[in-house]
Amino acid sequence: MLIQHIVGLSGLVAACLFIFGLKRMSSPVTALSGIVVAGIGMVVAVAASFLVVFDLPADVAPNRVVNVMLAVVALCVGGGWAFLRGRKVGMTAMPQMVALYNGMGGGAAAAVAAVELSARAEPTALGMATTAAGALIGAISLTGSVIAWAKLDGKIQNPWRFAGQRIVNGTLFLATVLLGIALVVSSGSPHFALLAILFFAGALAFGVMMTLPIGGADMPVVISLYNAFTGLAVGLEGFALQNPALMIAGMVVGSAGTLLTLLMAKAMNRSLANVLFSNFGDGAAHGGSEAHGEMKSADASDAAVAMRYASSVIIIPGYGLAVAQAQQKLYEFVKLLQAAGVTVKFAIHPVAGRMPGHMNVLLAEAGVPYDIIFDMEDINAEFPATDVALVIGANDVVNPAARTDTSSPIYGMPILDADKAHQVYVVKRGQGKGYSGVENLLFFEDNCSMVYGDAQAVLTQMVQAVKDLAA
Ligand code: NDP
Repeated sequence: MLIQHIVGLSGLVAACLFIFGLKRMSSPVTALSGIVVAGIGMVVAVAASFLVVFDLPADVAPNRVVNVMLAVVALCVGGGWAFLRGRKVGMTAMPQMVALYNGMGGGAAAAVAAVELSARAEPTALGMATTAAGALIGAISLTGSVIAWAKLDGKIQNPWRFAGQRIVNGTLFLATVLLGIALVVSSGSPHFALLAILFFAGALAFGVMMTLPIGGADMPVVISLYNAFTGLAVGLEGFALQNPALMIAGMVVGSAGTLLTLLMAKAMNRSLANVLFSNFGDGAAHGGSEAHGEMKSADASDAAVAMRYASSVIIIPGYGLAVAQAQQKLYEFVKLLQAAGVTVKFAIHPVAGRMPGHMNVLLAEAGVPYDIIFDMEDINAEFPATDVALVIGANDVVNPAARTDTSSPIYGMPILDADKAHQVYVVKRGQGKGYSGVENLLFFEDNCSMVYGDAQAVLTQMVQAVKDLAA
């Protein structure tokens, strides 16, 4: 009885810690402690699960000692591997790591459901239906996330598309749902095992088929969607197992994932359906008006000197900064400008980079103080009064076509108004287009100069140029 009370209470404590931790993750200043708090919640929930096993009567769980030992070994192997990988993973590889771990969460929920279904542990039709729904969503999330990981990691290069793909996928999904319904109503029938195998095979195959046609660059949105799926699957399994901690954790992850997916789609001014079904972002040709004029190039040291004598500079980092791993060099340059009396601020677009918060984490890693980093809506009004906007490895997020060109595929996407600064310098390697594949009209503006080169090399030259001035 006492153990039951402790377990019940620890579920509540774990849930509160998850929610409190998530709240703290909403600001970079408190994010690290938020992760620690949520992690403590997870330790509490796992410890409570072990207590439950020991509270079961010996005849209900005759193998509990062996089972607990197996669980401890699995925890050590999984936890140890994740700890080592987490320490080594680079910032540009973070999205694929998130995809993989998310898939494992979905797989774990599906595996729990498989055990519940095979043991026919759910006495009611509602219990069976909940378990089957969790199994379906978890299995889709598992294989979908693995494909997303492979795409982000460059292991699958091209989207796989064929005529009638949506009909095939729709039929597969419908057939899997029907198998699930058959499973729920045929509990106790001799065909139950066969139905269960076909149901799981259908769900796993659908995850693969749904993700293969989506362009690689849209994978962060897809991962966020699968994250919501995993949360939902875990919540449903929590309901089936009558485990409040699992229910609450699943629902928190599910709703956070759903909100994040919608926010990312909104920040790109695209619907979720457009992300999932439009073949956008795979390097294919897209619409948009022709750009007029010429791109002018500038020397890295000339640009650096202009910034050294400016009174205000706003820096716009993008995906290319992460690729070049030039955040430390960038901050070194910023400190030199600040020492010369220049006011420097960073402007962050909500989808700059390849996952939400990508740029904030990158800059935090280099030690850039949070009080000079601003979100788009807080800084956009400052561009017209700014001397220099320095765009580093960013492209789509500063493309004025999003404001002015109704035929552009990115029309309507909110952008950073870098073009309104008196002078704009854009650091990129060549004339390549951004993720969306459309021409950037900013590069052709009179007040814009291109500084060609790898961001790391260009910033090294800029640092040197400012140091030479002081010498
Ligand atoms: P973009 O992909 O639009 O542009 C990045 C630019 O960086 C390229 O034009 C490239 O030009 C340049 N670049 C690449 N490598 C280097 C390097 N080593 N040194 C210097 N420059 C380099 O990135 P943005 O951050 O501007 O925009 C993000 C895009 O990703 C948006 O369209 C957004 O919608 C999309 N997206 C974002 C998600 C998110 O959650 N953050 C999710 C899904 C999509 P060049 O090749 O000439 O060097």
